[in-house]
Amino acid sequence: MKLLIVGAGLTGAVIARILAESGHECVVLEESGHVAGNCHTEKDSKTGIMMHCFGPHTLHSDDDQIWDFIERFIEIYPYKHKKQAWVKGEIYPFPINLSAINRFFNTDLDSDQARNFLEQEAAQFRTQDPENFEQAALSGIGAGLYEGFYKGYTRKQWGREPTDLPPFIFRRLPIHLDDESNVYHHSRQGQPIGGYTLMVERMLDHPMIEVRTGVAFTACMDTTDFDHTFYSGPIDRYFGWCLGRLPYRTLDFKPEHRRETFQECGTVNYCDEDIPYTRVAEHKHFWPWEEHKQTVITYEFSRECGEGDIPYYPVQLNEGNELFEKYVEMAIKEPQVSFVGRLGTYRYLDMDKAIGEAMQSAYQALEAIGLNDSIPAFFFSPGSSE
Ligand SMILES: Cc1cc2nc3c(=O)[nH]c(=O)nc-3n(C[C@H](O)[C@H](O)[C@H](O)COP(=O)(O)OP(=O)(O)OC[C@H]3O[C@@H](n4cnc5c(N)ncnc54)[C@H](O)[C@@H]3O)c2cc1C
Repeated sequence: MKLLIVGAGLTGAVIARILAESGHECVVLEESGHVAGNCHTEKDSKTGIMMHCFGPHTLHSDDDQIWDFIERFIEIYPYKHKKQAWVKGEIYPFPINLSAINRFFNTDLDSDQARNFLEQEAAQFRTQDPENFEQAALSGIGAGLYEGFYKGYTRKQWGREPTDLPPFIFRRLPIHLDDESNVYHHSRQGQPIGGYTLMVERMLDHPMIEVRTGVAFTACMDTTDFDHTFYSGPIDRYFGWCLGRLPYRTLDFKPEHRRETFQECGTVNYCDEDIPYTRVAEHKHFWPWEEHKQTVITYEFSRECGEGDIPYYPVQLNEGNELFEKYVEMAIKEPQVSFVGRLGTYRYLDMDKAIGEAMQSAYQALEAIGLNDSIPAFFFSPGSSE
């Protein structure tokens, strides 16, 4: 079969690789000048530090099959991501842990005392079924921590009132009542030695795969040459935004070179609303096997995604998203196209999830080819975005 794959991010690369290894010809169209999509990395020309061009990334997963697939292409250096939060001029471990609680409230509590303390802090806001982010936060941790660590940051990050955002966004942010300081708790965590773009280039390096960078797909392109299309671009863009634009947040990155290390860890969230950026990433921390005296940091600014901007985070609102549901209805009627990946299904997907779904999409396609010699259009888990 001859397959068209739109987008050379992780999703497109994994699908192409699996189908190519089964003897199918894959043409991958990528509108930018490089592969790897959102996790693209590139060496800074001044310092040689590997930069996360579209925001810092760390691989983390509990799925051995996904990890084994990745390790076919690149060696993973064990790395545990650490984060801090800047609140009113003080730096705290983040996610919030016991030491952050004690420093913030100037207390000396142990784990059990901290649990009781937070229960008291939250008691007046307690509700069985929080209806929004703010209610979930207040009824979980009380007003002190919510206002210090989350309220301003959430308004900057999402450009929305926390009362307009769904409670699950708060629930996915852990709080530790011990001295745990790692961001992720997956059994496998690390960074690809050589960077993410090298990893994706190797996935795409196969005689049955042709990658055409700098080529944008449009729905009016003639695809009669192809038996099926896997589309990992934005779903609303596929339909020419005919019903309107799905809301996304975009990011502006402002890099800065410095002579010396700027912060202790890879990312620091700036929680105060009067600081215009949401976080600062210091790239060299992500590659601990390298040694650099100099450094590059990037300030991240979040704003509403407009025409021509890169869509990063789908905006999830309390009232759901009717517009997205309408695009799903249109997508389901496209007989030759499967909408895949973070943009095709309008969800935030961690890399392991994106790889896992791409593997499943490709195996599902191979099974269908085996049974009927054709691939039915399918749409992966529409709307499930937690
Ligand atoms: C700021 C940020 C930080 C993140 N950090 C982490 C992290 O630490 N750990 C983690 O596990 N995950 C992280 N992620 C998630 C990770 O980026 C995604 O899992 C991954 O990018 C999904 O890959 P994808 O191929 O589905 O999408 P993408 O990487 O977006 O790839 C889609 C590709 O399609 C191309 N394209 C789009 N439309 C067209 C068109 N019409 N024609 C041709 N090409 C097109 C794009 O240029 C792009 O290259 C982060 C995401 C963001 C936004």
